[in-house]
Amino acid sequence: MRKGNLFVISGPSGAGKGTLVKRLLERIPDAWVSVSATTRAPRPGEIDGVHYFFLNETRFDELIASHGFLEWADVHGKRYGTLKRTVLEQIHAGKQVILEIDVQGAFQVRKLVPEAALVFIEPPSLEELRRRLEGRGTEDAEAVERRMKTAEAELACKDRYDKVLVNDDLDVATDELVAFVNERAER
Ligand code: 5GP
Repeated sequence: MRKGNLFVISGPSGAGKGTLVKRLLERIPDAWVSVSATTRAPRPGEIDGVHYFFLNETRFDELIASHGFLEWADVHGKRYGTLKRTVLEQIHAGKQVILEIDVQGAFQVRKLVPEAALVFIEPPSLEELRRRLEGRGTEDAEAVERRMKTAEAELACKDRYDKVLVNDDLDVATDELVAFVNERAER
């Protein structure tokens, strides 16, 4: 059994983090992805406890007050947070724990857990990112604009990450991510 490690994966919405993480889980048997809490509404097809724990504002406030979050942040006007207890339990159980969180959350994690490895997933270009966001069809025009603005701000932080992966070819990006996680896990 390998020792547990903490990995943070960030990148603009539409950069393909979700797909890459899904592929990583298929290739790394001891990887485990944290399910975050959020105050945003579920999208069609999203299941409570699987994609997120969907909480109301009061319940989210209570978790902040009781120090239940490893980190939390306001993203696109909604709050998102990583549940501390389960994450620490999974690291102690020897898992390669993956947090798919925004840049604010990533730097909070680095402060608390300096040995965490931070990976940034970059879209091939802003034009391609816009094409993906519009093609996904889950966001209205205003939300797409907001996500594009956030994307630019997030891209400005990429140099502070331990590893930057450009998600141009999905197979290549998957191989690079898997190699990075395995290399860290075997240190
Ligand atoms: P979405 O609403 O598209 O699922 O996620 C929006 C953004 O919130 C993404 O950039 C995602 O990485 C981020 N996010 C999801 N969960 C968390 C979390 O627990 N903490 C933080 N800081 N960001 C999160």
